[in-house]
Amino acid sequence: MSGSHDDALIVGAGIGGLAAALALRQSGLEVRVFERAADPRELGFALLLAPNAMAALRALGLADEVRAAGAVLRSGEMRRPDGQVLRRLDTNAVSAALGEDSVSILRPALHGALLRALGRESLDLGARASGFRQEREGVALSLEERGEVRGRLLVGADGIGSAVRAALHPGEPAARRSGLVAVRGVARNAVSHLAGVSAAQYFGRGLEAGVSQSSPSDVYWFVSMAAPTTPGPHDPRALLDRHLAAFHASFRAIVAATSEADLRVDELLVRSPLQAWGEGAVTLLGDAAHPMLPHAGQGAAQALEDAVALGRAVAQHGPGEAALRRYERLRMPRTRAITELAQRNARMSALSSSLSCWLRDLAVRRMPERVLLRSLIDLGRAPEELVAS
Ligand SMILES: Cc1cc2nc3c(=O)[nH]c(=O)nc-3n(C[C@H](O)[C@H](O)[C@H](O)COP(=O)(O)OP(=O)(O)OC[C@H]3O[C@@H](n4cnc5c(N)ncnc54)[C@H](O)[C@@H]3O)c2cc1C
Repeated sequence: MSGSHDDALIVGAGIGGLAAALALRQSGLEVRVFERAADPRELGFALLLAPNAMAALRALGLADEVRAAGAVLRSGEMRRPDGQVLRRLDTNAVSAALGEDSVSILRPALHGALLRALGRESLDLGARASGFRQEREGVALSLEERGEVRGRLLVGADGIGSAVRAALHPGEPAARRSGLVAVRGVARNAVSHLAGVSAAQYFGRGLEAGVSQSSPSDVYWFVSMAAPTTPGPHDPRALLDRHLAAFHASFRAIVAATSEADLRVDELLVRSPLQAWGEGAVTLLGDAAHPMLPHAGQGAAQALEDAVALGRAVAQHGPGEAALRRYERLRMPRTRAITELAQRNARMSALSSSLSCWLRDLAVRRMPERVLLRSLIDLGRAPEELVAS
């Protein structure tokens, strides 16, 4: 393997890595993706693609396919845990303002679309990156038990525990517990439980939950709550039984209709933002660069935006350091602001005193429609440089 040479080496075949490979190929590079797993797949069932994620997918040529595989968000409700509606939302106004819909989709459908577009021949599976060396004209990536591969640039898209990030920033502390866990699942053939609403969000005491249609037949749901004081592994059913006893019957019915294989619990981790992402011929992308709590629904969206921005920078400046630093300058402020927003949202979702929850519910009910829509439009607006072709 040490003789091989591609223009761009990408570590990680998650949403970010595959999108980066597609974008870099669009900019004219030969790409190769190294994935430690023997079979690339997406864990976590489903996710919401905000309009900015759809704009990035459009730039990659995949928006229509993804939209057709998922479920377009048309209407939303914000609810109390007992199901009482605090507020209804017509999300068509957001789509109209931005020219893109919000789409909820099963992760394997999104990942599959990226994988098909890239082609499996561009993937090296069972290839675990362990470090790299900068060279005069590029970089040598070390793979466990496989030796080195050389390329003109290296993109670490290897998630929150990134080995590329560790090699770039050797003294940095590891990711730490946020104090929250997320239980997630998909209920098959359960759309009737939604009673015509595309998605709903529940604001509870010390927890937040959400539910959305994610395919013609499937319903995705999640609950974010305080992490148990005893360290994991945690039993998702036991956590749900403890927290959802008095919850909305239709949400509980969706959870009850979820098989054990379609249910998981994850400790939510955080890292402090980096002051600089990359160096020389190496950069970071997606969760490797800017892991964020899921409470803004933007982690994958930002990884997709990163990918398109990186491709554009390389198309403009060529496959070298100038392009990587330009990409980082563009992406660092935006991803940092959204990481902070996700943290603020997470704090809001974790409110537990009666007074603070009452005040939050009041704010949700009373916030003027135009203010609420404006905040959704601002969050879902893709950055200028991404939509301009
Ligand atoms: C509960 C929850 C809900 C979420 N909901 C949403 C949502 O609704 N909308 C949204 O936009 N985002 C959401 N996100 C965030 C989103 O899932 C992530 O931001 C996104 O998947 C990150 O993609 P990535 O490719 O950067 O990283 P990852 O998905 O972590 O992929 C990294 C890949 O790198 C591989 N890898 C790791 N180390 C190595 C190595 N040393 N060598 C080779 N390969 C390696 C891994 O096996 C993996 O395939 C949510 C996250 C959580 C936890």
